Amino acid sequence: MDYRLPITVVPSRYDIRIEPDLDAATFSGEETIAVTVREPVTEVLLNAAELCILSVTARDASGGAVEGSAALDETAERARLTFPSPLLPGQWRLTLRFTGTLNDRLHGFYRSTYKDAAGVAHALAATQFESTDARRAFPCWDEPACKAVFGVTLVVPERLQAVSNAAVVREEPTGDGRKIVTFADSMKMSTYLVAFVVGDLEATAPVMVGGTPLRVWCVPGKQRLARFALEAGAFALAFFERYYGVAYPGDKLDMLAIPDFAAGAMENLGAITYRETALLVDEAAASHTELERVADVVAHEVAHMWFGDLVTMAWWNGIWLNEAFATFMEMLAVDAWKPEWERWINFGVSRAAAMGVDGLLSSRPIEFEVRAPRDCEAMFDLLTYEKGASVLRMLEQHLGPEVFRDGVRLYLEQHRHGNAETTDLWTALGEAAKQPIPEVMDAWIFRPGYPVVTVEKDGVGLKLSQRRFTYLGGEPAESERWRIPVALRAAVKGGWVEKRVLLEEAELRVALPAPPEWAVANAGGHGFYRVQYAPAMLRRMTKALSRIPPIERFNLVNDALALTQAGAMAAAEYLDLTGRFRDETDRNVWTALTGSFAYLSRLIAEGVRPGLEAWVRHRLEPAVERLSWERQPEETELTRQLRADLLRVLGTLGNDEETQRRARSFYEGYRSDETAVDPNLLPALISILAASGGEAEYDEFLQRFKSARTPQEEQRYLYALAAFRQPALIGRTLERTINGEVRSQDAPFLMRALLGGVYSRGPAWEFLKEHWETMSRQYPGSAYRRMYEGVTALVSADWEQDVQTFFASRGIVLGGKTLEQYLEQLRVAVRFQEREAAALAALLARTPR
Ligand SMILES: [Zn+2]
Repeated sequence: MDYRLPITVVPSRYDIRIEPDLDAATFSGEETIAVTVREPVTEVLLNAAELCILSVTARDASGGAVEGSAALDETAERARLTFPSPLLPGQWRLTLRFTGTLNDRLHGFYRSTYKDAAGVAHALAATQFESTDARRAFPCWDEPACKAVFGVTLVVPERLQAVSNAAVVREEPTGDGRKIVTFADSMKMSTYLVAFVVGDLEATAPVMVGGTPLRVWCVPGKQRLARFALEAGAFALAFFERYYGVAYPGDKLDMLAIPDFAAGAMENLGAITYRETALLVDEAAASHTELERVADVVAHEVAHMWFGDLVTMAWWNGIWLNEAFATFMEMLAVDAWKPEWERWINFGVSRAAAMGVDGLLSSRPIEFEVRAPRDCEAMFDLLTYEKGASVLRMLEQHLGPEVFRDGVRLYLEQHRHGNAETTDLWTALGEAAKQPIPEVMDAWIFRPGYPVVTVEKDGVGLKLSQRRFTYLGGEPAESERWRIPVALRAAVKGGWVEKRVLLEEAELRVALPAPPEWAVANAGGHGFYRVQYAPAMLRRMTKALSRIPPIERFNLVNDALALTQAGAMAAAEYLDLTGRFRDETDRNVWTALTGSFAYLSRLIAEGVRPGLEAWVRHRLEPAVERLSWERQPEETELTRQLRADLLRVLGTLGNDEETQRRARSFYEGYRSDETAVDPNLLPALISILAASGGEAEYDEFLQRFKSARTPQEEQRYLYALAAFRQPALIGRTLERTINGEVRSQDAPFLMRALLGGVYSRGPAWEFLKEHWETMSRQYPGSAYRRMYEGVTALVSADWEQDVQTFFASRGIVLGGKTLEQYLEQLRVAVRFQEREAAALAALLARTPR
């Protein structure tokens, strides 16, 4: 079926008045839509879902009125307005009255509830329209290219606050305890960016950024947690105005923390909504990771005010233009704000995650055909965000940051208030760079996958070759070539040689002034490709790790693991490589190393586990000894986070008794004096206590989850509940995924964590098979889809068979290629297990070296 609306009638302005009833969980509305009728019609098609349309009137420019009727097609999510006489070409105004439900599915116009400090329950109403849920709040042309001006009026109880995209121009009491709040007109924008929030909310005093007042809104009592986000938001707003050379396109900027929120945040123009963990944070009590998350999400959403809101993709296939840019810009802004966080190095972890998915045969191009709405939901994934941002970073480095910025400015200038396609971006960047961009970029955007570049010594120079990287093999097609901007840095006698080349063909010979001892073929680490070094070269490199910067060491480990997963390197060889990194000091490199141990832990037999634990301890101990348990006054935030990361792994995956004992003693110290423990360390202590604890810890953590004082505290204790290893406690956490104690925004992720744990995955899988229908009813769609990622941890041939049968017989549709990707990831792990289990068992039984 065709999901696109006909364009015989197009809207230019909506005047919408909505009156929510929070107690009854309903709303009523009236809208007048100014439309242009392009040819005579007796029918008008627009989107509507879960609405009841009470009346329809069309008026022409002279005011002559035609009464119409509306028929709803819930499957197509459309309303067909029918008129007794044709609407002739020209300007018309359609007035519709309607009613709807404030649902509890966290999309459309929905109801969120929370308890105040005294335990009293309150309700608020909020919207989440992207991608296609504005139609659940008001009938509309719910397509990104149908931009219009929105004049919003909300009628709410006098004691409540109402927020929408633009500033309040008027508040008038109705005399019966309600008030009419009228907002200024929005700019011309897409329907998915409209927002209404109504509730007992408090705002911070505005921070002025240029002429724009910036505020944070939250439920009462949480304002003390808003300072950090305000600072991050103010920086990002000023930074982007400078970078883009285009003023912020709204008249105010509100950032609202919503107690129930399906995604991380939503870039409604002027009224950005967030889940509480992504906005509210206590700086003094948060870890680096938690603060970075808030800074990231805030910068990302503010970037969207230009990328997404001011210039919007023409259709959902181009969603990467929104999301990849916002992700790229988020890095740029956070890196400028807190250079000491080394944000771009940490971005390597995100890039690696995208390469994990994009190495699958079931990957998809960044830009991918979207027809059905559910396929559009599936586009919000690692490929759109992280691969997209990686490819932009690669291009930025290839063109140079200034040229890239100039191209971005041109693109915004040319398409402001409009819609754009990928080719428009290439045109603008090409104009700025004075070179054709599509030739280099198209393969990265319009084709799935990425290459692995093989490097070997070739006399005085190097030989580079490329092929598509896949985990499961299959014959790579001849045509699968990329134009790869390769940044080379070769170690030659007495120094370095740097060289940038474009690898376009299957092979390229690069001449160097002197024979290389070894060479890094992704210098700076910006390239979205893997590198496979000839064995002799790899050996020389791993002896010279101190001469290689962290991002390149990270890639070295990450690529080696991927090649091992793909069967191009032996597991024994990989484990041997990890032994070269015992002196490692970079947090991201450690993330790659410990992540690979966690991966191995899912595919080894139970009897081998003590062996793996011993190897993990052996690899981590020197670094942990160097760092000690005590924070040092002169050390950086990153070092503190690294200490916590390593201790967590040592106490859980390494099952180190001494670490577990000290963690209990440190946590004891925290109980009596909360300032005694470094905020970075506390989450690690909680994880270790959960993994090694029993009922007493479980009950305490459950209590702390329920009485948490910050969103971060709530999350730490919630996810700790999934880390206990005793079957009875696992059972108790499983029950909590569907009994209403855990918010539906979090429960699917709790379930995913349970599926991912080697002790809990078995019972979690049985529980999922029994309760998936309940989950599909309770959980918001996007999170429900992501929950199933947990099945990738069910690494055994029997489980794999069971998983396939489950999906085949239940007819579960996750949209796009999501399910195929989960199944292939599982296949990759099971193949790895079949290939390497015996070798790993023999190796891990030996003393680590
Ligand atoms: Zn985004």
